[in-house]
Amino acid sequence: MFRRSVYKKPAQLRGMVAPGEITAAALDAVAEAIRPGVTTLELDRIAEEAITARGAHSNFQLVPGYSHTVCVSVNEQVVHGIPTERVLEAGDIVSVDCGAETPEGWNGDSARTFIVPGEAADPSLVAQRQELSDVTRGSMWAGIAALASSSHLGQVGAVIQDHIEANPLPSTGQPAGILRDYVGHGIGRKMHEEPTLFHYATPGRGAEIKPGLCICVEPMMTAGSDEVFVEDDDWTITTVDGSSGAHWEHSVAVHAGGIWVLTAPDGGAEALASYGVTPVPIP
Ligand code: MG
Ligand code: MG
Repeated sequence: MFRRSVYKKPAQLRGMVAPGEITAAALDAVAEAIRPGVTTLELDRIAEEAITARGAHSNFQLVPGYSHTVCVSVNEQVVHGIPTERVLEAGDIVSVDCGAETPEGWNGDSARTFIVPGEAADPSLVAQRQELSDVTRGSMWAGIAALASSSHLGQVGAVIQDHIEANPLPSTGQPAGILRDYVGHGIGRKMHEEPTLFHYATPGRGAEIKPGLCICVEPMMTAGSDEVFVEDDDWTITTVDGSSGAHWEHSVAVHAGGIWVLTAPDGGAEALASYGVTPVPIP
């Protein structure tokens, strides 16, 4: 069904380790810098410095028409927000998506959602944003754990949807909205490769999960309706109802010994423990 090159050989999988670690380091640097008063462009510069200091370069800048290192999506923006002079405020929910490519030509891709610390004007809204980030992150880890025991990507999508439906947001009593038109993807020589991972149940089985698969699991969720639109900048994806958005992403490798989360410093060990999954470093 898919080109054999979708599944990487062991030596190619080893090439995926460094860009994953560099992408994680860039997001660590962003995490340390997030505070009221920082602009989203400053976060972009901080991520770029972290990547170039490690001998790699931004792969977002290789996307036609895009010139930044990260996407920063604030509040009702869910994904693909462009860094600007916008100043972050306490209580903002901020999703930062970032990727690095090594000189050897291998790619990493990861996203985290942050709540800007400090005293916010509307504590109940901040609490809801935290709920949304937590359930989105939880659905990502449930999906990653499912990679370890499933045969096809369709099973992973169903697990992500199940997690969302089993954990409605306490503030609304409703499950988070799952973005339908934006998907997870294979990663390797390019940031975006086959196959596709839907973050919801689909009729098809999806691509086979077997050694050599490198896949980005990246649920994108809203605190309300799943309806979104593209802002006038032709990039930013924003909720129609003005509800908050969240986005978490990891690049994950499947190899003969198990799975390894390339963009988590511990390979995902801490988060996967509750699922009984122990990640195994790529040999
Ligand atoms: Mg990404
Ligand atoms: Mg991605």
